[in-house]
Amino acid sequence: MSILEPWNIVFFIGFIIYVVTRGIFAHPTKANEKIGHRIDLSEKTLLPAMLISGLLFPVLYLFTPLLSFADYDLPTWVHWIGMVVIIVALWLFWRSHADLGKNWSPTLEMRKGHSIVRDGVYRRIRHPMYAAIWLFSIAQALLLDNWLAGWGVVLVFTCLYVIRTPREEKMLLDHFGKDYQSYMAETGRLVPRIFAKRNHK
Ligand code: SAH
Repeated sequence: MSILEPWNIVFFIGFIIYVVTRGIFAHPTKANEKIGHRIDLSEKTLLPAMLISGLLFPVLYLFTPLLSFADYDLPTWVHWIGMVVIIVALWLFWRSHADLGKNWSPTLEMRKGHSIVRDGVYRRIRHPMYAAIWLFSIAQALLLDNWLAGWGVVLVFTCLYVIRTPREEKMLLDHFGKDYQSYMAETGRLVPRIFAKRNHK
């Protein structure tokens, strides 16, 4: 069983922390009263695809021989990079959940009492949680020696990010108007804007 390989154990510890972090922060949002959503076919297909590539494939790879046809070998230095990336990803995943608080939702939704979060890890970038998920997915690919269990989620999350982000920003712009516009002007999506000024108190 490949769960007994050292790098797979490193991934699995990170994976447990990732899932538990989401569980802890998702729980309090269950009581949210939704006041709007933008759920289309892309959301309905890509979210299940994320569950399959991000959760099911690694579990099958680690605990069964079912995906062994897609195995390959990565050099040890790649695994070391994967370990560094997964640590950064888990830190950012935790901080973005802590800062977004009750405004988090698994899909595109607005809640009653929704406010724009623009502090903490949201101060310079608008999508730190997506940055964290991307980093985690890349770490998954660098740690697991399997095309499907490793790279599948990178492919699916790239599609989700590219399709969802403009729609999410449109939803927030429609709701918050100028406030979100000014927040956009002072932040980057994943990488901070270098010459942006903060112009609110
Ligand atoms: N895209 C963000 C949040 C992901 S969770 C990130 O990557 O960090 C998705 C939900 O967060 C969306 O439904 C939206 O309602 C909410 N959201 C996104 N950015 C926000 C912000 N700056 N303030 C408050 N809510 C936000």
